Amino acid sequence: MRSYRLSGVPAAHVLNCDLHCHSTCSDGLLAAADVVRRAAANGVDMLALTDHDNLDGLPSAQAAADELAMTLVNGVEISIEWEALQIHILGFAFDRADPLLNAGLATIRAGRIERARRMSAELEKVGISGTFDGAMRHTANPSLISRSHFGRFLVESGACKDLRSVFESYLVPGRPGYVEHRWATLADSLRWILGAGGVAAVAHPGRYKLSRADMRRFLTDFRDLGGQAIEVISGSHTQEHVDAFGRLAREYGFLASRGSDFHGPGESYVDLGRLAPLPDGLQPVWQLF
Ligand code: AMP
Ligand code: MN
Ligand code: MN
Ligand code: MN
Repeated sequence: MRSYRLSGVPAAHVLNCDLHCHSTCSDGLLAAADVVRRAAANGVDMLALTDHDNLDGLPSAQAAADELAMTLVNGVEISIEWEALQIHILGFAFDRADPLLNAGLATIRAGRIERARRMSAELEKVGISGTFDGAMRHTANPSLISRSHFGRFLVESGACKDLRSVFESYLVPGRPGYVEHRWATLADSLRWILGAGGVAAVAHPGRYKLSRADMRRFLTDFRDLGGQAIEVISGSHTQEHVDAFGRLAREYGFLASRGSDFHGPGESYVDLGRLAPLPDGLQPVWQLF
C-alpha cells in the first residue's frame, strides 16, 4: 500500500524507484522498450536503464516511458578498475549527448571483442570449445560482449548447470576463462558522469571482494572525486549488506540508491521494482533528479 502526501505528490521514500537494470544493448535479455514496459507493469514510478558502458538503449527507453507516462532517468553502469579489482559505477541523470561521456564509454568498449577472443582461447585450454562464437550468438550488441554472454553459452552447451555455477567455476579471477582487462579508472568515470551533469553512485557495493579497510579507502576515494551515492538496496544484497551499507551511507554522507540489477526474466532473482524500500533515515538519491 502506498501513502501519499496531501499535495498528491508521493513522498520520495514511497516512490517505487528502480535505478539499475539492463537491456539487450548490454547483457540484458529484453529490448530497452520492453524493460520499460515491464517496469511500468510492475508498478515502477521511476526507472533508470543502466546498461554497461553504453547509452544506446536510452532513446527507445525514453520513447516507451513517454507513452506510459513513466519517469525515465538516463543511466549507465561504467566498468572501472580500482586497485586491480573490477568495480561498477552508476551514472544517473546526465546529458546523454555529452561528448566526453560518449567518447569515454567508447574507449572502454574498445577491447571487449579482443578480450572475448582471449577468454575463448583460455576456455579452449580446459577443453571447452567454440565459446567465442557461442557467446556472440547471445549478444545483440557485439561491442558489449560480456562474461554474461559467455555464461549463457556455457549453460546452453551443458558445460555448467546455471549462471551461478558458471561464475563459481569459470570467468572469475583464478578460474579458467578469466582475462585481465583495462577498464576506466575511478577518476575517469567520475569525470565523465559529473562532467555530463550527472550523479554517480557505487553499484552493488556488497559484491566486491574488499576488506572493511579497503572498502573504506575506496569509498573515501569515491567521495573525494565527487561521488555522491551508493546502492544500499540491490538485487544482489543480503540484509547484512543493506545494514552495513546503510551505516556507511550515513557515515560518509552519501545519498542512497535502490536498484534491482534486473537482466532478464528467469535469470535475475529480483524483478524490476520488486525490492525492499530504502531503510529509514537515508536520503534517496532520486531527490536530486
Ligand atoms: P563483464 O562486463 O564482461 O566483466 O561482465 C560482467 C557481468 O557478468 C556483470 O554485469 C553481471 O551481469 C555478470 N556477472 C558477474 N558476476 C556474476 C555472478 N556471480 N553471477 C551472475 N552474473 C554475474
Ligand atoms: Mn551485467
Ligand atoms: Mn554490475
Ligand atoms: Mn548491473
